[in-house]
Amino acid sequence: MKKRNTVLILGIFSILVLIAAQLIIIKGVWRQKDEMLWLRYRSLSQEAWSNMQRSRRSIDPFQTVRFILRNYSDSIVKELPKITDPDKLAEKKKDIFEFFSLVLNQEQDFSKYLSSYFESMGFEKDFKHRIVITNLDIIGADTFNIYRSQSFIPRRPQEREGISTALKGSKSSILVRLQQWEDNYYSLDFEYYIDFSDKRKMIIKEISASLGMSLFSIIIVVTIFLITYRNLMEEKRLSNLKTDFINNMTHELKTPLATITVAGKTLEMEQIRKDDSKILETARLIGKQSIHLNQLINMILEISMWERTEFQLDRKKVDIEEIMNDIVSSFKTGCGNCAKLSQKYSFNGVKTDIDLVYFTALINNLLSNAVKYSDKEPEIDVEGFVENKNICIRVSDNGIGISKADQKHVFDKFYRASSGNIHKYKGLGLGLYYVKKIAAAHGGDVTVTSKTGKGSIFTVTIPY
Ligand code: ADP
Repeated sequence: MKKRNTVLILGIFSILVLIAAQLIIIKGVWRQKDEMLWLRYRSLSQEAWSNMQRSRRSIDPFQTVRFILRNYSDSIVKELPKITDPDKLAEKKKDIFEFFSLVLNQEQDFSKYLSSYFESMGFEKDFKHRIVITNLDIIGADTFNIYRSQSFIPRRPQEREGISTALKGSKSSILVRLQQWEDNYYSLDFEYYIDFSDKRKMIIKEISASLGMSLFSIIIVVTIFLITYRNLMEEKRLSNLKTDFINNMTHELKTPLATITVAGKTLEMEQIRKDDSKILETARLIGKQSIHLNQLINMILEISMWERTEFQLDRKKVDIEEIMNDIVSSFKTGCGNCAKLSQKYSFNGVKTDIDLVYFTALINNLLSNAVKYSDKEPEIDVEGFVENKNICIRVSDNGIGISKADQKHVFDKFYRASSGNIHKYKGLGLGLYYVKKIAAAHGGDVTVTSKTGKGSIFTVTIPY
């Protein structure tokens, strides 16, 4: 139990370490790709800007903006000196700033140009743009400073955290251009940013191979761990079964041996030797115990032989009803009427190919278990019928029953239900294993249903 828990804890711990390591690696790759994308789009967009300026045929994408702002500043420059109330002046400055921002952001055509440039280079074309004014002065007889940015706008990738604060949470912003304009009535500094909202998707696409590999390796490791753990548990279960078997077998073999030893000692006694009837009785006892011993040893030998080779059946066509009647009645007399036995058959005269010796052993095993695992007077019902080209034999008892957990294993080699180990009910855990093997050799099967305390029903099906 302790060993099992250690294996389990160690296994889970190693898997967690593996997952953590993979996550760290993926995070690193993600950062790297993120940085690469950032640099790639920055150089592309700057390249686009220079291309645009170099090309003589192209029209200025800020032409409309300049036109609107020129007219606007022309009107505003006369208006501003007339405002004396500082509150009104502040209000006006705010309006001017917002107007400039709006026009810059909405009336420029550079974003369209950039988008088609990205597309022509085979890159993602969808992005958001944002133009941030860093300084705005209205210049007339006096200069009115409308806005001056206080914030530090970093330009290098490592400093993007700074940009994110400047651009309210947008970590993926790329600064494309810092621009300064001097016009008749205004001076303007602004910065043009682009932002890929789909960047996460793009990165996932780029690292999907390594992501898939990581996931695959985790799945493989978890599967191998589960298989190994299950095998370990199965081995442990088998080794426990073997230990139980050796204990039970020793116990089973000791009883007839002890009787034989005592009988031998009895024969040495002089007063016994004088009494012929006592000698005969002791000799019979020795004989009976030797047969029992022999049967036990044969059963073990036979089963170990089956393990190596498929055993040969000597099949004959028989009237199954007749055979069942014979087996059940000889069992009843053999055990000295140890149980209330009832039989009900409706085989419709079906004839089956069976090996009589093995089939008899199969039914006898079921019947003797029904008697053995009983805590009151055993009542056994034996039913027989045909169903889907099979003969079915059902042995029901009123015994101690088998728990759900034990039902799964009763046909396993050496398996004994937990109460079986305390020697209250003697056995080696081979009887039902034997039954299953015989049924399978006939092309059939055996199943069990049971309720603890109520009894068990074993059903054998053999095709005819
Ligand atoms: P054995 O009887 O030698 O222990 P078997 O293979 O015949 O081995 O049975 C395996 C286990 O199944 C038994 O230990 C017993 O716990 C359970 N068992 C078998 N038949 C019955 C039955 N009719 N009623 C209750 N338990 C049974």
